[in-house]
Amino acid sequence: MNDNTTPLVEVEGLQMHFSMKGGAFSRRAGVIKAVDGVDFKIFPNETFGLVGESGCGKTTVGRAILKAMQPTSGKVIYNSKNGGKIDLVPMTNKELRPFRQEIQMIFQDPYSSLSPRMTVQQILEEPLRLAGHADKEYLYEQAKEMIQQVGLRSSHLMRYPHAFSGGQRQRIGIARSLITRPRFIVADEAVSALDVSVQAQILEILAELKNKFNLSYLFISHDLSVVKYLCDRVGVMYLGRIVEVAPTDILFKTPLHPYTEALMHAIPDINERQIRSDILAGEIPDAANPPSGCAFHNRCKYAKDKCQSETPKLREFTDTFNGKEIFRQSACHFVEEIYYK
Ligand code: SF4
Repeated sequence: MNDNTTPLVEVEGLQMHFSMKGGAFSRRAGVIKAVDGVDFKIFPNETFGLVGESGCGKTTVGRAILKAMQPTSGKVIYNSKNGGKIDLVPMTNKELRPFRQEIQMIFQDPYSSLSPRMTVQQILEEPLRLAGHADKEYLYEQAKEMIQQVGLRSSHLMRYPHAFSGGQRQRIGIARSLITRPRFIVADEAVSALDVSVQAQILEILAELKNKFNLSYLFISHDLSVVKYLCDRVGVMYLGRIVEVAPTDILFKTPLHPYTEALMHAIPDINERQIRSDILAGEIPDAANPPSGCAFHNRCKYAKDKCQSETPKLREFTDTFNGKEIFRQSACHFVEEIYYK
């Protein structure tokens, strides 16, 4: 059974490690821990944002959840439509097939993600055909309904992708993702290829459709203003791990991890938007050779000896905001000392 208190997706201890082979003249061999033990939950009708600097592992998390890459270890528990909880990680492609309609993705690049040789109608109908639907009238009715849901007209169905602007193509991509009536959507940098004014329209559509179709999103972005607009809760990633999770407004007002705090201070004007690796003090560490202990210690203004030797766990904290109890998590040894003194 699905209610709003039972998670739709639970990611537990997700790891994605890549082996790095040293060449004849290179001594760089070893393992890159792109994702190194990530845990989070996404609830029904929730948008969960995943943010961090480029190379922090957020895109890899999305790909691992979708099984576009086979995780090294961990679980991705999905609460399926018929009420059964399943772990997607050990499943084969064949076993996953019945659930593909329920879990979809929105691509970043609206230019390369639509086949130039197919009409919009064919593009929209394809996921339904793959799911075994063959009735032409049914397929057309579904395509017509979906194209209207994203603010385009049914006359657009006959055209080819090249006839559309980037924003319109992204609308077509969204319509295609939604045509199988999914419950969970992974959107990785879904608006970052678009102009700012077009981004706002697409975000509005995503927010509208979320409520209309009771969707849950994993929204991966390096753009804080986009995350602030769309997400209900946010997980902040640093070097393959989640360092903080909180409701969006609380995270932006009162961060509970020195990395999040540094991001907020480094980008005082939210309109500056993008997380840039050069905007924080200190070098971002090499993922192939991460620092011991807390991976943020070489850039953290609060770091103490313990931070160099012990890896902090993601711990839960309860706060009260506007009379409401909220839960948040932070992976720092000194949360109490820094933020609750
Ligand atoms: Fe900074 Fe130490 Fe906390 Fe890491 S554990 S964020 S280095 S204070």
